[in-house]
Amino acid sequence: MYSFTEENYIKAIYKLSANGTQEVNTNSIAEALDTKAASVTDMLRKLSNKGIVHYVKYRGVTLSEQGERTALQVIRKHRLWEVFLVDKLKFNWDEVHEVAEELEHINSDLLIKRLDEFLGYPKFDPHGDPIPSENGEMNLKQQKLLAEMEVNDSGIVVGVNDTQPLFLQYLDKMGIFLGAKVKVIDRIAYDNSLEINLENKKNLVVSSEVSRNIFLSA
Ligand SMILES: [Zn+2]
Repeated sequence: MYSFTEENYIKAIYKLSANGTQEVNTNSIAEALDTKAASVTDMLRKLSNKGIVHYVKYRGVTLSEQGERTALQVIRKHRLWEVFLVDKLKFNWDEVHEVAEELEHINSDLLIKRLDEFLGYPKFDPHGDPIPSENGEMNLKQQKLLAEMEVNDSGIVVGVNDTQPLFLQYLDKMGIFLGAKVKVIDRIAYDNSLEINLENKKNLVVSSEVSRNIFLSA
């Protein structure tokens, strides 16, 4: 069992390591968790003693197998709670992340098992992110960023790269949702903004920043 803070470190390292494929340095952890590098060093020492991280000389840390397993379980809980909040408690998708940040630390395997069953074993959270199974397996989707699509390409919105409320509220305002059909009509060379058609209904222009945060089915 790990503390709230330890779990947040483990999750941050997992995310920064691009799902466990590269080393993570102290500074990027400090930045992600908004804390001082010295505190990160202390915590990494602690996690290393517990067998959660391995130090890679001059390069940072990687998660051990156990660390990775723990990260995936915290992520599983986070995403299941987000589904619960949206599907059962009628939260909007921009309102769930912060609450799930708290709920993900509740430590009861039985609770999570029952929650999963209650929700009908969902595979994706309300932002389109895959939910790891009990064994830590994830259904990775074939997806690409709207920004990478060519004129006349079309696809279905399957996820977002940014779960900040302001971004999700903007998508709501524009009528962009998971499952929406999008076709690229034109790319404005001046600033790389895109004119898109939504649901065969309306055309709208999205900035290049926005287009780098929407995933479409590939
Ligand atoms: Zn979240």
